[in-house]
Amino acid sequence: MRASDLLKPRPEGLYCPPGDFFIDPVRPVGRALITHGHSDHARSGHRSVLATRETLDIMGLRYGADFAGTTQAATLGETIDINGVAVTFHPAGHVLGSAQIAVEYQGMRIVASGDYKRQTDATCLPFEPVPCDVFITEATFGLPVFRHPPDQEEIARVLKSAAQFPERSHLIGAYALGKAQRVMRLLRDAGYDQPIYIHGALAKLSEYYQSQGIDLGVLEPGTVESGGKADFTGAIVVGPPAAFADRWARRFPDPISCFASGWMRIRQRAKQGGVELPLIISDHADWDELIATIKETGAGEIWVTHGREEALVRWCELEGIAARPLHLVGYEDEGD
Ligand SMILES: [Zn+2]
Repeated sequence: MRASDLLKPRPEGLYCPPGDFFIDPVRPVGRALITHGHSDHARSGHRSVLATRETLDIMGLRYGADFAGTTQAATLGETIDINGVAVTFHPAGHVLGSAQIAVEYQGMRIVASGDYKRQTDATCLPFEPVPCDVFITEATFGLPVFRHPPDQEEIARVLKSAAQFPERSHLIGAYALGKAQRVMRLLRDAGYDQPIYIHGALAKLSEYYQSQGIDLGVLEPGTVESGGKADFTGAIVVGPPAAFADRWARRFPDPISCFASGWMRIRQRAKQGGVELPLIISDHADWDELIATIKETGAGEIWVTHGREEALVRWCELEGIAARPLHLVGYEDEGD
């Protein structure tokens, strides 16, 4: 059995011929296995979907209850047989419900990790290294320049700024699924106990996180039409990055624009986006995490799905590990 006979790239996504299923397909298919709820990985319209309970719930919140013909919840660590192929979901540490998918057939095990990170995140289960023959990794931040600092240090900078400028508001741009809730939880863990104001686009998902036992404290809508500027003096407001470019953001007094993303490592990028207080908080592995993870899996072969593939492939080759880019299309940086 060759690895490329067990999983292979197709225009719809990564396909398993003996199991007849796709992992994170970008087009509607018969049977989809989905690693996590970000919209580039979890699309609607499949005939059947296998994913963790949380990912299924998140897809339901985003697309409506009829997002797939049928659904099946995968329990972490439990093996499911699909046409003779053994499939097991393992935590990926990316966002709530995120999972790696291990696919095993005739003695060959391939792990498709989806998106993942190794930094501790109180809003999801930590990544679990799974020994395998082939490890499929993302490479969103696959360059040595990308090193994410401890997230508590980044959050401490917001609180310091808020203390320094009590008359101003702080607007934190953060992706709606995962990053926003992680930022809120980090604020709470740092001792911030004021209400956090949120954009309407975060309401359903944040409520869902709270329902799953992830305490985000008191959240108030940052969208009350009657609210005057004075009501938001000193407030910390969290919203999707796009919202800060539109009228919504103008209701806040003298706002300091913050953006929580791994891309904030690149000063130029922060500057171009008009970000005054860049926060390097990422839900993706940085360079050190990528190479540490590759080593930990013990995989003899690495396939790289999306991001900066070339540098990571080159690093593997120098380490004597076979590697190749998969050139899958359709995956973006949501939740970076
Ligand atoms: Zn993702």
